[in-house]
This record gives sequence, C-alpha cells and structure tokens, in this order.
Amino acid sequence: MLTEDRSPVATPAKPGVSADLRVRVDQDACTGDGLCAQLAPAVFEFDVDGLAYVKDSAGELQTQPGAYVPVPLPLVDAVVDAADECPGTCIYVERPDGTLEAGGPVG
Ligand code: SF4
Repeated sequence: MLTEDRSPVATPAKPGVSADLRVRVDQDACTGDGLCAQLAPAVFEFDVDGLAYVKDSAGELQTQPGAYVPVPLPLVDAVVDAADECPGTCIYVERPDGTLEAGGPVG
C-alpha cells in the first residue's frame, strides 16, 4: 500500500530567509570598493583576492563563479540598495524565474 508522508507542518521556510530572491556577484566586474559589504555584511564579504562574494546563511563565503545565495528577508532592502548602488553594476538580485529584481548592468 502506498502512503504519502504528509507532515502536519509542511516544510517551513527557514526563519528570516526569503524563498523568493537570490543574489550573486559577478567578480569580473567588481571594483572592490566594499560598498556592498558595508550595506549588507551578512551577505557580502571580500575574499583574499579583494573582490566581493556572497555568503550563505552559515556565513560561508561562496567562491564558485556565479554562486547564488538566498536573500534573507530582513536584508532584502540592504541587498537591493547594494545592488542599486554597486559601482561595478555586478550584483544581481534575481527572482526564482531568473528575472532581475535589482542590480546588474543598467540597460
Ligand atoms: S559594491 Fe559592487 S563593485 Fe563594490 S565591492 Fe561590492 S560587488 Fe564589488
């Protein structure tokens, strides 16, 4: 007999983590000025190469090219501000369908 495992509470989202937005940095265009790390230090940090990378919810720097992390809900405004003000226009805040919420090269 097939049974379906249905927990009384369906997979809750992690507290404070948006299920909607994700963010990445294109290091090829990063100027290393540090604005993003000032605005949202929980999400952006420099690696030893002097370029900005995103961090996951455990604070682990994601150094793979094009790595995304979810945008924590309380930090959405700060991350969007960083993307809007990034001098390298190299922060991409994307929706699940890949469309741009903020940042990226100005079209
Ligand atoms: S604000 Fe943009 S250009 Fe400046 S360090 Fe962050 S990702 Fe790089």
